Amino acid sequence: MITGKNYIGEDLSSESLVNFQTFNPVLNAKNKITFFEASDSEIQKATKLASDAFKIFKQVSANKRSEFLIQISEELKLISEEITNIYCSETGLTEGRCLGELGRTINQLVSFAELLKEGKYQEVSIDNPIPNRKPLPKPDLRKMLMPIGPVVVFGASNFPLAYSTAGGDTASALAAGCPVILKSHPMHAGTGELVSSAIIRAATKTNMPNGVFSNLNSKGIEVGVKLVNSPCVKAVGFTGSLKGGRAIYDLASKRRNPIPVFAEMGSVNPVLIFPKKLGKEYAELAKQYAKSITVGSGQFCTNPGIIISFQSDNFDLFIKKLVEEIEQISPSCMLHPNIYNAYNLGLEKIKQNSNVSELTREINTSDKNFPKHVISHVSAEKFMEDKSLQHEVFGPCSLIVTCQDDKEMYAVIESLEGQLTGTVLAENNDTFLTQEIIDALELKVGRIIFNGVPTGVEVCESMTHGGPYPASTDSRFTAVGINSIKRWLRPVSYQDSPQSLLPDELKNENPLNIKRNINGIII
Ligand code: NAP
Repeated sequence: MITGKNYIGEDLSSESLVNFQTFNPVLNAKNKITFFEASDSEIQKATKLASDAFKIFKQVSANKRSEFLIQISEELKLISEEITNIYCSETGLTEGRCLGELGRTINQLVSFAELLKEGKYQEVSIDNPIPNRKPLPKPDLRKMLMPIGPVVVFGASNFPLAYSTAGGDTASALAAGCPVILKSHPMHAGTGELVSSAIIRAATKTNMPNGVFSNLNSKGIEVGVKLVNSPCVKAVGFTGSLKGGRAIYDLASKRRNPIPVFAEMGSVNPVLIFPKKLGKEYAELAKQYAKSITVGSGQFCTNPGIIISFQSDNFDLFIKKLVEEIEQISPSCMLHPNIYNAYNLGLEKIKQNSNVSELTREINTSDKNFPKHVISHVSAEKFMEDKSLQHEVFGPCSLIVTCQDDKEMYAVIESLEGQLTGTVLAENNDTFLTQEIIDALELKVGRIIFNGVPTGVEVCESMTHGGPYPASTDSRFTAVGINSIKRWLRPVSYQDSPQSLLPDELKNENPLNIKRNINGIII
């Protein structure tokens, strides 16, 4: 049952008079359940509890943490029907999308559980001493990655499961040994509470310390601001808008003791199309891209927002076909009226730009929250003059950029801000596809895709989901895949420590039987 209350560790609590309801965008009406925003004292209790829990949780063995993650995945499976009901009513997304996202959430938990059993994520390294080294003896040095402390995770509006309550940020932080305080997204507070109940049950069943997880509701930005400013909090994970992510990053860096913020923000994910590919497959590409632009109503951070190619008859044919295809796809419901309105505002700004022409037909959509699919066009010269054309318009739209030649395409790439992805559609022998183009693209993105679409992010070790600012605040880390655990770990070295005071991972006898780097050799 959903209570509308906050989870302060394992206790449900509703002290505040500030309350709110979630919204069903398909019915264009508020949902019934009332949610209570977390009060100042609840925020303090949750952060203090997390800080106290950290001292115990960091000592819990990797195997036990692994059991905790598996138990969360089991608890989620048990309530999948309830989750689906509330998820659909709070987001307008379909049952199929919910089950897909739930499956991904469960798989993420399981993959972190498996990683914990291997032990290699801790990057244990031992340099034995050389007492008679001249001119100075070399000390005994042992290093491993340790959990950073309590982490605040901001639930993402566009991924109520996989990037929210028990999503990638939470799973990786718990795997690392960091308690999590979840700042629930107000658009799907009910989904958040149900998933939280599963995490709390798993924590109790596997004997995790109280406070290892809390879930706080918020109506506006204040709860998030207070959490980021709490001295008990040691890092932040965020997925959302550039405006929100940047505000949180600035807050965290202004603290007396600044903390890292790993924010994954806006991206327009440029797609470069080369002539030979267009000549062979313009119609298929148009079909494929109409789908990629409109899937999930365009509410993906990897949505292809800019399509770049050279002026040619084949590119004109591609554009014509893309417009035809996208106009045939029926609009699907957006997550919330706020996101729908933000999309329309973004489109309006583009429309008012005299250098941009809208290619899709004007249509009147009577269904509120069901957005229009839009393709617009601008020349490369005008695109480079106006940085505002690089702003993410979150929804089912894309801007076509036409270049005169390869030099202009190179200049367009150089003018781009940081991106999550860059896509190259080309034949192997496409004359204009040069190493220079790829090198320029590589400086701008976290992932280069060849002959595919950027939407769809595989969860595996080799995935990078992040990119130079403003795609993310720290391009050295990925937000997807098991390496995302590195965001919540920091290296600690022990120099000349007695064996008895070392963590088990660093002891000579290797009681955990993990792979370690000993004097440069992995054993
Ligand atoms: P958002 O506005 O960035 O908000 C995300 C979370 O951050 C919310 O929980 C919000 O709290 C909090 N927040 C925002 N500004 C804050 C601030 N100044 N200080 C503290 N906390 C702050 O994103 P959204 O609500 O999910 O969607 C709004 C827009 O973000 C969309 O229209 C879209 O443009 C963009 N977006 C982009 C992506 C992406 O992957 N690129 C994903 C989702 C959304 P409250 O909700 O409590 O105010």
